[in-house]
Amino acid sequence: MTNTDVIVIGAGIVGAACADALSERGLRVAVIEQDIAGGGATAAGMGHLVVMDDNAAELALSAYSVSLWNDLVGERPQRHEYSGCGTIWVAADEEEMDAARTKAQTLSAYGITCELLSPAALYAREPQLRPGLAGGLLVKGDGLVYPPKSARILLDRAMRRGAVTQRAAVTAIEDHGVVLADGTRHQAQHIVLAAGSRSSTLLPELPVQPKKGHIAITDRYPGFVRHQLVELGYIKSAHAASGDSVAFNLQPRPTGQVLIGSSRQFDTIDPAVEPAMLQRMLKHATTFTPALAQLNVLRCWTGLRAATPDGLPLIGPHPARRGLWLATGHEGLGITTSLATAQLLAGQMQGESTRIPYNPYLPRRFHD
Ligand SMILES: Cc1cc2nc3c(=O)[nH]c(=O)nc-3n(C[C@H](O)[C@H](O)[C@H](O)COP(=O)(O)OP(=O)(O)OC[C@H]3O[C@@H](n4cnc5c(N)ncnc54)[C@H](O)[C@@H]3O)c2cc1C
Repeated sequence: MTNTDVIVIGAGIVGAACADALSERGLRVAVIEQDIAGGGATAAGMGHLVVMDDNAAELALSAYSVSLWNDLVGERPQRHEYSGCGTIWVAADEEEMDAARTKAQTLSAYGITCELLSPAALYAREPQLRPGLAGGLLVKGDGLVYPPKSARILLDRAMRRGAVTQRAAVTAIEDHGVVLADGTRHQAQHIVLAAGSRSSTLLPELPVQPKKGHIAITDRYPGFVRHQLVELGYIKSAHAASGDSVAFNLQPRPTGQVLIGSSRQFDTIDPAVEPAMLQRMLKHATTFTPALAQLNVLRCWTGLRAATPDGLPLIGPHPARRGLWLATGHEGLGITTSLATAQLLAGQMQGESTRIPYNPYLPRRFHD
């Protein structure tokens, strides 16, 4: 690992995307991963590529990143197990339909194509939904990938440009360097911390907190649902800063399987599947699609999202440590936002102008 310009800690989707973007700019990159590339939250996530609009910064980052995903999957979408299934935001009642209208206005004003759905239009598209819903909002440009595969593709592309990888645990970060578990030290001009929910193990001062999530996957039932279905109530539960919650989030995998999400829990890093939480999540899902109860669930798992207090990631220089860059804190949107993160990070490092302003994501916003 000599003559390295940048050491990236972590080969999840964010580290892999950073390695790709930095090597594309001619930098000599080394990636240090303690486990399997893409085996962390990246393997646990649903892989939904979704434009989110809770605030202007989230909208800018997710919309930019979805456009980068479209370029990446390009003409070989099957390599990423990509599907352009779109998202339907499901409105349970008139209050949520109002939220759908507001969302439609925000997205349209930003140039994102979307369509409000009457109840009849909703059921024509998704007959498995329970009767009595108020309608929905279809966002056609959203899609999905199989994230560990995409992480591997990005990493392989970086390696073809000369990037190297090492399987080792980083135990400390120094000025322009890292220390590995066996005591070895490596130096580089830039260190990029992309260790997901474990970032705060290396840097306890980071405002990053693990948020546990459960997912289940069924056997193959092609056509059971056709779009990623998300309840509009999801937005309320997803952004709670404490407490446990579940939300209806159903995804049609290209294999015909149905991915069922999701739950959110603070104050635990225990990876065990918790039967009570799983049951709550599945029961809630069947209130939206009752026939789901007849499907065979094959496997359940959990993952840890890296949550920040304002829900936006940390992308940019560490406010106080030399040579250290942060690319972490992507919470439940890191598959979507990984590619834009990498562009903003690499752009800042190289002093380039970036497609969208990077200020809202700078780590210094939490530094007194
Ligand atoms: C249940 C669930 C559902 C989700 N669904 C979606 C979704 O549909 N769409 C979406 O956009 N996002 C989703 N997400 C969020 C998304 O999965 C994450 O934001 C994203 O994977 C974060 O990627 P990352 O590379 O930062 O972290 P990770 O994938 O966790 O990668 C970090 C890597 O760093 C390595 N590492 C950590 N510490 C060290 C160390 N000291 N030394 C060396 N290596 C180290 C780890 O082994 C790991 O491989 C979901 C997350 C969960 C948990």
